[in-house]
Amino acid sequence: MPVPPPARPVFRFAPSPNGLLHLGHALSAIINHDRAAAAGGRFLIRIEDIDRTRCRPEFETAIFEDLAWLGLSWERPVRRQSDHLDLYGAALQRLRDLGLVYPSVMTRGEIKAAVAVYEAGGQAWPRDPDGTALYPGHERDLSASRQEALAMSGRAHAWRLDVAKAVSLFAGPITWRETGAGPAGETGLIAADPAAWGDVVLSRSDAPSSYHLSVVVDDALQGITHVVRGRDLYHATSVHRLLQRLLDLPEPVYHHHRLILGPDGRKLSKSNGDTGIAAFRAAGRSPAELRAMIGVQ
Ligand code: GLU
Repeated sequence: MPVPPPARPVFRFAPSPNGLLHLGHALSAIINHDRAAAAGGRFLIRIEDIDRTRCRPEFETAIFEDLAWLGLSWERPVRRQSDHLDLYGAALQRLRDLGLVYPSVMTRGEIKAAVAVYEAGGQAWPRDPDGTALYPGHERDLSASRQEALAMSGRAHAWRLDVAKAVSLFAGPITWRETGAGPAGETGLIAADPAAWGDVVLSRSDAPSSYHLSVVVDDALQGITHVVRGRDLYHATSVHRLLQRLLDLPEPVYHHHRLILGPDGRKLSKSNGDTGIAAFRAAGRSPAELRAMIGVQ
């Protein structure tokens, strides 16, 4: 019998068009592109634009210009998340059918206020890996009929994952294979800790999906075998692995790479204009100089 050819690895760079790309994005895009090329694999770009309030078409255009200037080439058509909202809705429905999500009307401000009241009593409230106070879980314990009424009430609400219930469905630990490193040097087989995030939001009141839900749905649909991204998303992988297990999605290999820090020693942000790829281009510097500057040859 003929032996089927080995599957080609599939890499992706998944920017959100809510600002200009900076040198950290350049590093991510170049590593993905170069690894795909070296492995005879595919390199895809995905536009993560579910947050319609912050994403703009001119940023999307700028992303493609910057990546082309860097000398990267990618497959077309490019997938745009806003074209696939129904798929994220279907994934959410599946989790609803499993009884794993619940409507949550508490706003960020209300959560902050509830946590402040608690902390005024002298006790520290748990924080997620990004330092945000965990959702207190008030609405999780409402009866099914009250949850249903809340969902139908017309009030703006998010859908949250009951993480403890979701995790309890699996006997052993949920793991992933890390070929890069986490913030504390974690590498190899990693035990996911989704509870560190509390009951994450899977669909927001002002956006029909969340980053976590759409990223796992798309990585699966696009056949991504290697997720290569900045170390700032290392801890989010715990949520992604839980969602992949719940939705029966395949498990990619994860590689979290170093971050490029600004002169102040902090992670770059899209508002750091001077560390943008566009500013670098405008200053007459070359793609080779940019590669040298961020340490990729
Ligand atoms: N869209 C995310 C960002 O711009 C990246 C998502 C990912 O690589 O998983 O930070």
